[in-house]
Amino acid sequence: MEAAPGLERYQCHPPKPDRKTGRAAFAFFLTLGSQSAVTVPHSPWLNKSVLETRHMSPQGSLLSQSSEPALDPRRLAMRGVHRALSDLRRGTPVLIVQQETALLVGAAETLGAAGLADIAKAALAAPVLLLAPVRAAALLRRPVTQAEDQPVVALRLPPAALDPARLRGFADPTAESLLPTEAEQLAPPPLAGAALALAKLGRLLPALVAAPVAPGVAERLSLLTVPAEDILAYPISAAASLQRVAEARVPLEDAPEARIIAFRAADGGIEHLAILVGDPEASAAAGQAPLARAHSECFTGDLLGSLRCDCGPQLRGAIKRMAEDPAGGVLLYLAQEGRGIGLVNKLRAYTLQDRGLDTLDANRALGYGADERNFLVAATMLREVGITRVRLLTNNPDKLSGLAACGIDVVGREAHQFDPNGVNDAYLDTKARRFGHMLG
Ligand SMILES: [Zn+2]
Repeated sequence: MEAAPGLERYQCHPPKPDRKTGRAAFAFFLTLGSQSAVTVPHSPWLNKSVLETRHMSPQGSLLSQSSEPALDPRRLAMRGVHRALSDLRRGTPVLIVQQETALLVGAAETLGAAGLADIAKAALAAPVLLLAPVRAAALLRRPVTQAEDQPVVALRLPPAALDPARLRGFADPTAESLLPTEAEQLAPPPLAGAALALAKLGRLLPALVAAPVAPGVAERLSLLTVPAEDILAYPISAAASLQRVAEARVPLEDAPEARIIAFRAADGGIEHLAILVGDPEASAAAGQAPLARAHSECFTGDLLGSLRCDCGPQLRGAIKRMAEDPAGGVLLYLAQEGRGIGLVNKLRAYTLQDRGLDTLDANRALGYGADERNFLVAATMLREVGITRVRLLTNNPDKLSGLAACGIDVVGREAHQFDPNGVNDAYLDTKARRFGHMLG
């Protein structure tokens, strides 16, 4: 069944990777529910956790490994991707595979001499630099061509440019590097899209050195192999696998009746939090729609009181508003710093903003999209606390449609707006003009 028009871009279901390019074609191909627009994949398989289970014999000794049940393939897939993105962050190349195709990649931001030597040893052809089109155009100072289905540009570099310091400069738009004039644009190799996706999952700049290699290279060089489809399915698999792992009552200055529930995904990544104010679960059980807000963590705004954004006032304001509402509320505190680009990239984006770009163009200059968040994280947490009908505190129409696409019944919206502070005025203006936020 086809998705409703426009909802494809909300990532609520595992993508179907294109066999040739490894690029995701986000499609709704899972079972459709009768109650909501779509049924979000639940995770009953996680309840039968096998990774953490130790099977004890009646005498209390550990049974032999051979008697343990097979590991769930989805857990194994997530574990493989998490290891691969950790390797990229360490500067170690990884092998991305799909059927007979194999692409050895290393992140331009972190590759050192050893990683580059590994790629040179294994490459069947000269390595290329993979970049997001916006970054490639900026480096080349000319427009680049790109295939509709392949938002990646591949550049052949002269050998002298394959140097760790120069590669970091090519990756980072704050470094003001230029490519050598002889850099030549090539057709991107198969799996280039998956390579960029893996770098983004690692919160790295989406710029990679890549080379096709022969099978068997990973074993020879002791490098990790990861299937392209596992990379593309990872954000959704991780979000769908969230389980509550801890809960505590935490009275807050503006909300004495507050609890925090921590959720962890099966990938072993960073935990997300649900902050419950009042008793929204009881309100939901009684048929009411409590307030809800999906708040992406903002270290600078939430903790330090940065004036560059409005996150701090939005966070405290939402909690205060929920404490006043008879139905209570739930604030989903999402580990998706900087609209999903990570704190380090957000700091880079700030530097670009100081040079004249707005928040949207700064993200794009880094090679990221305007908003890389995944609404299934918020939807899964809401479902886990038994709240599926909400009034959303937001100015962002994407949050309304994103949560709805992920199966949450958004029955109303409350504006959540705070006055400019003299520093964030342009930021708020960009939110209204370019992100379509409903700011009055
Ligand atoms: Zn912020």
